[in-house]
Amino acid sequence: MLKTDEQSYLNFINGRWKSSESGETKEVLNPADRNDVVGIIQRSTIDDVNEAITSAKAAKESWRKLSGNERGNYLYKVANILENRLDEVAETLTREMGKTLPEAKGETARGVAILRYYAGEGLREVGDVIPSTDSNGIMYTTRTPLGVVGVITPWNFPVAIPIWKIAPALIYGNTVVIKPATEAAATAAKVIECFAEAELPNGVINMVTGSGSIVGNRIAEHPDVNGVTFTGSDQTGKHIGQTALARGAKYQLEMGGKNPVIVADDADLDLAVQATISGGLSSTGQKCTATSRVIVQSSIYDAFKEKLLTQIQALTVGNGLEDGNWMGPSVSESQLETVLHYIKKGKEEGATLLTGGNRLTDAEHKDGNFVEPTVFEDVTNDMTIAQEEIFGPVLALIKVETFEEAMKLANDTEYGLSAAVFTENIRKMLTFIDDIEVGLVRVNAETAGVELQAPFGGMKSSSSHSREQGKAAIEFFTSIKTVFIK
Ligand code: NDP
Repeated sequence: MLKTDEQSYLNFINGRWKSSESGETKEVLNPADRNDVVGIIQRSTIDDVNEAITSAKAAKESWRKLSGNERGNYLYKVANILENRLDEVAETLTREMGKTLPEAKGETARGVAILRYYAGEGLREVGDVIPSTDSNGIMYTTRTPLGVVGVITPWNFPVAIPIWKIAPALIYGNTVVIKPATEAAATAAKVIECFAEAELPNGVINMVTGSGSIVGNRIAEHPDVNGVTFTGSDQTGKHIGQTALARGAKYQLEMGGKNPVIVADDADLDLAVQATISGGLSSTGQKCTATSRVIVQSSIYDAFKEKLLTQIQALTVGNGLEDGNWMGPSVSESQLETVLHYIKKGKEEGATLLTGGNRLTDAEHKDGNFVEPTVFEDVTNDMTIAQEEIFGPVLALIKVETFEEAMKLANDTEYGLSAAVFTENIRKMLTFIDDIEVGLVRVNAETAGVELQAPFGGMKSSSSHSREQGKAAIEFFTSIKTVFIK
């Protein structure tokens, strides 16, 4: 079997590594150092996508007919290969996408754990026995795969997100065509290499890289793709959802967040500060679950702010491959421009900049997309920086008098992915759990950092209202058959 070389990453179609028929490629650059070319990826065409979908379609019957145990054994094999290659995959992840090496290693280890979790799913129950009103009848449910699943992924978790979509798709008997984000396609290609090394039957997994509007769009519109699972921006998600819906295909969308933290007057401030920094600024704020609004009760506001600023000003920003750097760059020049645009907007709309706000341009940082960790105060909930997803290291402090006011503001957003409260008071905790309009409810814990065996997903505009991961994944990747036997 052909394998990609260090620098050049090919498409993976029907068990073979192949160049795009376009003959065109694209360089992927290191966001911490634009002089470093991380890899060269294929700029694929509609014909490349069609070929991948044809191969996934041809493979789907025999893959579906394997037992769950047999499919699971392939996933265990992929997990072992990825585990053996963990350091190399994590280093590529850091070079390509910018998050620090410890974060990249953590994400890759998570990918291994997800593969093992879903490998085990091959031996677990899939249906219910339901009593029939007919005493001579047997009634039960079973599950059937969708067929070919299109997987369209973002750049912020280029190992974990592809795996948390591919692994359940495969274990429940689907075949896959994945189009990874262009900004992180080399890392995704390394993940697919692990599937290739595990020698899954030809056509069961296929990868095509290239632009979203060509490759991704073709996956969404192709009549032989039975389901599409997507994580990324609202705009692209809605387009994919509409495209899939128009032809009657199943779709699943995980999109943005504007995740609040409420710091109540009785909170453990050290814990709240640590979780706000970790939730808001790690991975350079590039998580859909990142904390972005920090709603603080007035009686503890000054104490919280002082601790927060002291710790943020001590954070080290730099190349994530180097020891001691806590925060890496924005993924791309255009993502950095987006972050700087929101910082400008915050100032124009009357928020007060407390720290940060600038691109870093000194000798150490000039070749990368680095921005300072940034905190605003005097933010009102109608400001752009309190409503739109920034996807950068920017926190907006909002001062409120009462817990009730904090709850109202926390819910005053079109998004509903994750939210956290810091309080020791059981009544406040229960009010928060009951009234907060999000899919991921966190008490005395940061907004990011959910576990792989639990359902993941949002409410309101954050999601198409389905859930990924854990046992919930079966809902998207299969259809229920209700069986009655007389
Ligand atoms: P996109 O939503 O555009 O990209 C996500 C994926 O969709 C990528 O693989 C992309 O391909 C693909 N895609 C793009 N256009 C289409 C299309 N017309 N049809 C099908 N697929 C398509 O996000 P961006 O990378 O442009 O990031 C923009 C913003 O999105 C960020 O600033 C952030 O706010 C948000 N975002 C949210 C994420 C989350 O986890 N919720 C993750 C990433 C971004 P390609 O890479 O080739 O463009």
